[in-house]
Amino acid sequence: MTTLLEVKDLQTHFKTENGVIPSVDGVSFSIKKGETIAVVGESGCGKSVTSLSIMGLIGATGSIEAGSILFEGKDLTKLSKKEMRKLRGNEIAMIFQEPLTSLNPLFTVGNQISESIRLHQGASKQEAKIKSIDMLRRVGIPRPEKVYSSHPHLLSGGMRQRVMIAMALSCNPKLLIADEPTTALDVTIQAQILELMKGLTRDFDTSIMLITHDLGVVAEMVDTVIVMYAGQVVEHTDVFTLFSSPKHPYTKGLLDSTPKIHERNEELLTIEGTVPTPAAMPKGCRFQPRCPYAMEKCMHEAPLLEETSAGHKVRCWLNEEGEVAI
Ligand code: SF4
Ligand code: MG
Repeated sequence: MTTLLEVKDLQTHFKTENGVIPSVDGVSFSIKKGETIAVVGESGCGKSVTSLSIMGLIGATGSIEAGSILFEGKDLTKLSKKEMRKLRGNEIAMIFQEPLTSLNPLFTVGNQISESIRLHQGASKQEAKIKSIDMLRRVGIPRPEKVYSSHPHLLSGGMRQRVMIAMALSCNPKLLIADEPTTALDVTIQAQILELMKGLTRDFDTSIMLITHDLGVVAEMVDTVIVMYAGQVVEHTDVFTLFSSPKHPYTKGLLDSTPKIHERNEELLTIEGTVPTPAAMPKGCRFQPRCPYAMEKCMHEAPLLEETSAGHKVRCWLNEEGEVAI
């Protein structure tokens, strides 16, 4: 598979009243054509900032301080606002957690989908309408003609998310970034939406970058997983290896706090403590205050992300020492 997106040593900072905050601190990964990757971690770990950096949407207070984002070999950090606008929605599309905030309540669903098709593909009004209704049908919306002329607030949360997916995929993007796309939905609808995304991206050969705090969502859906903690990647491997032999204590903590589908009565553990704010970053390993395996060395020296076996990268001294403690 050829590489679609390559993020190299990305550093995204934000200016705040309390100084400059490095929200993303040296993140690297790549996505191949047709591949689905997940970026996992609690909120505040830099997942969304990573995706907004790719989309060129970090806003006026944010800036990409270093690194590159190569999309089909083109460095997105070097593009003008105008060039980025052209790319967004067309080659890279994004869906968010709460579709109501991304859909305009004043316009009908049809109006919004066909507008995006006309804008990006130069289709006529009639062509855009036909394509919109077809997309609504493909995302499993019953009576798509009726939904086409409805306003978003009349639809259920699940239906709105289907509309967002229809809108995102209507321009045949090469990459779909989905930031917590199912978090606001109930479990049955979540499963349907994920299944739908998986099927559609297969049909359209779209790569997916799925951002989630929920490892349960990841298992069925993705090829590769990147676990982020406090602005850095702490583990990076294929999904099977992540579930069968996680190597970072944070990943292990996330797995222990994820309900398994068939074990309803199991006791779920939680990771004690909270993600540190960049202003109060612990010395040494950033996970050290919450880590049950922390050693003396972890308090003073920050571990690097190292490849421990082919394609499996981990940022933890335990693996450096050759110990298999978890
Ligand atoms: Fe825990 Fe130390 Fe590994 Fe950090 S480096 S995750 S503190 S064992
Ligand atoms: Mg987020």
